[in-house]
Amino acid sequence: MSVIKIKDFGDYGNWINNNDNKTSSVKSLKVLSPYFDKQIATIPDSNSHHLDEAVNAASNAFLSWSKTNIRDRAQIMSRFKSIIEDDINNLANIIALDNGKTIDDALGSIRRGVEVIDFAISMPNVLKGESSEVSPGINCVMTHEPLGVVAGITPFNFPVMVPLWMIPLAITAGNTFILKPSEQTPLAAIKLAEYLEQAGLPKGVFNVVHGSKDIVEAICDNPIIKAVAFVGSSKVAEIVYSRSTQNKKRAICLGGAKNHMIVVPDADVDSTAKGLLASSMGSAGQRCMAASVAVGVEDIDHIIDQLIDEAKSYELGKDMGTIISKTSLDRITNYINEAEKMGAKILLDGRNASRPSDYSSGYWIGPTILDHVDPKWACATEEIFGPVLTIIRVDTIEKAMEVENNSQYGNAAAVFTTSGEIAKIVSDNASSGMIGINIGVPVPRDPFSFGGWNESKYGHGDITGVSGVSFWTNLKKTTSRWPESSQEWKKYF
Ligand code: NAD
Repeated sequence: MSVIKIKDFGDYGNWINNNDNKTSSVKSLKVLSPYFDKQIATIPDSNSHHLDEAVNAASNAFLSWSKTNIRDRAQIMSRFKSIIEDDINNLANIIALDNGKTIDDALGSIRRGVEVIDFAISMPNVLKGESSEVSPGINCVMTHEPLGVVAGITPFNFPVMVPLWMIPLAITAGNTFILKPSEQTPLAAIKLAEYLEQAGLPKGVFNVVHGSKDIVEAICDNPIIKAVAFVGSSKVAEIVYSRSTQNKKRAICLGGAKNHMIVVPDADVDSTAKGLLASSMGSAGQRCMAASVAVGVEDIDHIIDQLIDEAKSYELGKDMGTIISKTSLDRITNYINEAEKMGAKILLDGRNASRPSDYSSGYWIGPTILDHVDPKWACATEEIFGPVLTIIRVDTIEKAMEVENNSQYGNAAAVFTTSGEIAKIVSDNASSGMIGINIGVPVPRDPFSFGGWNESKYGHGDITGVSGVSFWTNLKKTTSRWPESSQEWKKYF
């Protein structure tokens, strides 16, 4: 087990024109490590004035970058990927320190993000355009054109992977980019900026502005920024979507989730128990793909028994890191307290888990399993965003689907069964964008695109894959006919 060591990164400014621009005239925000409950850096709480500096840099860089051949843009992505891979352990340590992930979890999340860079490297093939003779002598060519200056706003839980859903596609498509990372976990974004500079990215193509609500609002309102991609809670996703689109921007805003796993007694016991556990407790339950509700159809006690055995062997600090903040820890604990009061049976209680001996502080809670939960209780409907699995018991697949369909969210749903027929019913009828069949975390890997439905996403399309390329580009259709009036060329024959 890797023990995380505390480190002070000092005071950061905004990353503009490939430079760390210190901004003394602004209030700074403390970055705390959830392993230690101690400050490890400060960042500026930027406002619209600081955004203007980044927008100017990105605007100045746009013309030259958008005219750079796509193969050369993709080459920079290829170097970016190699630099990340060479420094992956250092990057994982940084993620662990400000986010609370274990090193293994951080490494896995970086590798998933790098898959999007792989896709961006292949973009010369994807963006080669289409051409056809649409009428005798008339040709139509369709090309993907960059939008201009674009922005991404990201959450705390995947400080590298989520920015990498956006940056490689947007930049390789020829846009210039402004990232506003989570103020809770901004350190990896700064590292990504340094890697991009080392990879040869020209000044102003990638910029980072730090801060919270003010800078997000400034991004939504800025008239030069053409498109905004947001990932975070549904509440903020809705605000950012409405404000950005009111300001005539293109927007895709991914929100929160409450994902359901439908478990049927015929499911393979071992892989289902492991799948339920990994999905609900991985990243300490702080991920939008966490399946936090198991809907058991009839008697699934044999699977739950094994799940509890496996969960009891989970070691804090090794299998699961910390919760992001004291506020989040209190929120998670309150959900468990409330469910207990309502009459849930607590099969496993993470509130009593002891902190790993290597850490004398930090925001820790162990795996928690709540059984016999009413589908209407808060713990069954609201996003807890912690290592809490809620079990709802029903007696038919129809009732299980009703529970899934009634959720306001629609990120992912999964079914564990050995019956193809049941798997098809669930996949046909689930009201979610990503479906797992005997897979608890059904993340579609590139070139398939990532994105949910309902209140898990505001906007059209998905964020990665070909859908992501469409988001960051405009289609240009050029129709041409050459007049035959000049016969000059005939003399060459
Ligand atoms: P959050 O919504 O609190 O913050 C996301 C971003 O919005 C941050 O950069 C933050 O600075 C900014 N922000 C916060 N409050 C704001 C406000 N009032 N006005 C303007 N901007 C504001 O989310 P979080 O706590 O950082 O991340 C966890 C959430 O993200 C969970 O709900 C999780 O499900 C969701 N998430 C979704 C996906 C997905 O793909 N759907 C992926 C990862 C995380």
